[in-house]
Amino acid sequence: MDSAATFLDSLRPAGSKRSSKRDLIVNVFLRQEGHLTADTLVELIRGADERISRATIYRTLQWMVDAGIARKVDFGEGRFRFEHSYRHPRHFHLICRTCNRSFEFLSSDIESLIEEVASARSFAPRQSVLQIHGTCDACRTGRPPLAEGGATELLFARDALRIAIATERSGLDFYARAARMTKDPRGRRVFEKLAEEEKEHLGTLEKRYRELLQQDPQLESRPTFLFFKGAANGLFAAGAEQLTKGVNDRDALMIGIKCERGSHRFFKRYGEKFEDSEGKRIFLEFADEERAHLALLIREYRALVQRQRARSGRRGKRQRPRAGASRA
Ligand SMILES: [Zn+2]
Ligand SMILES: [Zn+2]
Repeated sequence: MDSAATFLDSLRPAGSKRSSKRDLIVNVFLRQEGHLTADTLVELIRGADERISRATIYRTLQWMVDAGIARKVDFGEGRFRFEHSYRHPRHFHLICRTCNRSFEFLSSDIESLIEEVASARSFAPRQSVLQIHGTCDACRTGRPPLAEGGATELLFARDALRIAIATERSGLDFYARAARMTKDPRGRRVFEKLAEEEKEHLGTLEKRYRELLQQDPQLESRPTFLFFKGAANGLFAAGAEQLTKGVNDRDALMIGIKCERGSHRFFKRYGEKFEDSEGKRIFLEFADEERAHLALLIREYRALVQRQRARSGRRGKRQRPRAGASRA
């Protein structure tokens, strides 16, 4: 727990006395995944050091909540549970009423909806709690539970990478197709260049994914944590679909601009909302790449419009530039 120790040091005022009891309690707490009752934590701590009193543990729990290390959650059982928020992304819960286990998930669509409602009512949301109570698969069917558990941080990074990889793949497909159909040589080179870049990024993301899997042999088979209905990969797929209908060079660039802009916004918007985590970094880095592609496409769009204008000027034809360049 080296990173947790460093994190604790950063919270401690300079020169303040180290509280070894508190450190022990915090470290034991941070090693747990899931949602602990205060009693469970007391048992764990007393197992490690029986001289630590229940009162000290309760006080430290409250201190962790105040310091933002722990989150208090109420699953309607008449007592609170605690989960750590350090490197643990915000999420919603599925709660089984039979076995009392809880399962975490995150959904960008639900978050957007909450934001939409709050904004329509001019409400400044600070926290939202979503709980789905019912019966889990294992309790319902008697089947052994799937590879549940695992560090949420890893699940989050896994799902963020899966989304980024899917987007990258459909981006690659889009640019490869656009390069094949573009007649303007310079425009074609741009699409080829972007296809090359997507291919390279795809390789990097896939490597990162493989590295992540090494941290947890069961990671691939664990249930989905991050749900995205309107994921950005749909954008490029729709763009590629438009290309098949046959478009001119300018339209192809404009479709690319729309895709990259949508993708950039999507990854940036969600990346910024996540708490500090690998998943957040994956989203924000990806958003940056998409912004760079967007900038390149806009430059090329403008250059193409100018070339076409100059060409039609030479021919003495008057051709009104099509709307759209300024919107780029
Ligand atoms: Zn259950
Ligand atoms: Zn939770």
